[in-house]
Amino acid sequence: MRRWLAVLLLAGLASSAGAEELRLRLLDVGEGQAVLLSHGERGILVDTGHAGQAPKVLRAIADSGIRHLDMLILSHLHPDHASGYFRLREAWPDTPVLDARHPLPADVSPDMVRWVNEALSRDPLRRRLTAGDSLPWGDARIEVLWPARFDSNNLNRHSLVLHVRHGERSALLMGDAGKVVERALLQQGKDLRAEILVVGHHGASDTGDAAFLAAVRPAWSLISVNRDNLRGYPHDGTLQRLRAAGGRLLRTDEDGDLCLRLPRTAVVTPCRAAGNARQSADIGKVRP
Ligand SMILES: [Zn+2]
Repeated sequence: MRRWLAVLLLAGLASSAGAEELRLRLLDVGEGQAVLLSHGERGILVDTGHAGQAPKVLRAIADSGIRHLDMLILSHLHPDHASGYFRLREAWPDTPVLDARHPLPADVSPDMVRWVNEALSRDPLRRRLTAGDSLPWGDARIEVLWPARFDSNNLNRHSLVLHVRHGERSALLMGDAGKVVERALLQQGKDLRAEILVVGHHGASDTGDAAFLAAVRPAWSLISVNRDNLRGYPHDGTLQRLRAAGGRLLRTDEDGDLCLRLPRTAVVTPCRAAGNARQSADIGKVRP
């Protein structure tokens, strides 16, 4: 783990511009999630959206000025997060792919989970992430808060939870983790404070517990969800808790691609997402 990381960093960061601000884009990939981090010409993709969204995700990487995709991280292997892996791997053959290597039950469904897992098991650039790992990335750092254990066949329970830190600013990416994981993180006494919260599990009812939100205190809460979601995401109760927690609430189904800047010291501000014609001021508005 440490050795490949050192190689990656030495190879990758010589041209990284330390003064560049970090940008976080939550791409509107319909049903699913894809988070693009960029730092000058360097990028990290956390989740791919579903397979049909791969052309859009690849375009977003190019439009964001990323010339080096340093890591592809898969929070978990459900198709709405990971089935774009095949196309991403073709386009970026030298990018390490990192996931939690959740042991899958033989009858895992849907089949796509198995197919992605089979391809990953043959991928020489696959690396495992687990709670406690810390990935330096230029002058930023990605801390892995979860999974700390595998004790369920529910893949969402073992979703990677990532704390992206850039100077005094940070973003918490929950993947599809829900309240069980939120409670475990609270019990572990982790520092969860983050200006940006990418809300877990598309804002489902099992996410965004009040005690958890009180610990995170997000100034910006972002939800990736498609219009007319079959499962009823985001849940009204979750939206109410997010509003009660304060800050601004943005959703890909209503606001399209979302883009926020994380400077090292100044406040987080919206930026215009490549491909989203809306002015940054529009997505900065406070939702009633
Ligand atoms: Zn999902």
